[in-house]
Amino acid sequence: MKTPRALLALVLSLSLYAPILAQIREDNIRAELGFLASDAMQGRASGSNYERIAAEYIGSQFRQFGLEPGGDTDSSGTKGFVQRAQLQPATQGAEPRSTWNAIGVLRGSDPRAAGEVIMISAHLDHIGVNETLTGDKIFNGADDDASGSVAVMELARVLASGKRPRRTIYFICFGSEERGGHGSRYFIANSPVPLTQIVADLNLEMLGRPDPKVPPGTLWLTGFERSTLGPELARRGAALVGDPRPEQNFFRRSDNYILAVRGVIAHTVSSFGMHTDYHRPSDDVSKIDFPFMTKSLNSLVKPVRWLANSSFRPTWLPGQAPAR
Ligand SMILES: [Zn+2]
Repeated sequence: MKTPRALLALVLSLSLYAPILAQIREDNIRAELGFLASDAMQGRASGSNYERIAAEYIGSQFRQFGLEPGGDTDSSGTKGFVQRAQLQPATQGAEPRSTWNAIGVLRGSDPRAAGEVIMISAHLDHIGVNETLTGDKIFNGADDDASGSVAVMELARVLASGKRPRRTIYFICFGSEERGGHGSRYFIANSPVPLTQIVADLNLEMLGRPDPKVPPGTLWLTGFERSTLGPELARRGAALVGDPRPEQNFFRRSDNYILAVRGVIAHTVSSFGMHTDYHRPSDDVSKIDFPFMTKSLNSLVKPVRWLANSSFRPTWLPGQAPAR
């Protein structure tokens, strides 16, 4: 009698274990966001050493999740997760000379589909420190965009923990979004795959607090009405609606746009409700609504996994592709 009971317990524990792995956990979000948006990271200014540390940290997380490195090869010949983007030295004097992207790859399991790429992206930089201020001088960027970077990491963790999807997923945190999108521009100019093979980019920006303009627990997608991507993800269970403030032109205000003008179906998921801490030192960890972030992000897991396993190719709706 002993063995079958033990076996049953094992089967039960395994079947309980799988769904636990497939969920984004609030404690992981708190840990990652708490580090990225800590004062020690000095606001992760575009092109700064703190931006570089953020990229190395995110890369080390990608490594822990079992992703393939998508960054540069170091002096010992080992490929890493961080990509250094060297910028034109001739640009305006104040511009950073290098910026850093963190790139992890979950290689598709189906040889016929692995050439098709889903991108999950965010920006890891923020606007640093302003020494001329009195009081809090550090722009921690907890919402903008430590929240999006954490979302990329946590989607990577859960998607890498289950059965490997058919299509390849690139998890990327870009540097220097705040200073002109240098990280994403460099990545695209040196893309490891032809842009036509990128099925979609889901960019994540400012997800740390609920937007009162949309239903509780809901995120919104910039340019929702422009392509078939948002409606399809929503139909598959994503708590995703259209951007409630089209007059703000958010579709054009993040790295997704740099890809979208090159033809890639690329949108930004957000819940930015125009809070007054935007680009202020008060965009702090203490203002983050972790239960909201956990719940809303979890609604994306199944739809994104579906997208990575499907043959669905989103398209721009007639006349809705942004002009270059
Ligand atoms: Zn941002």
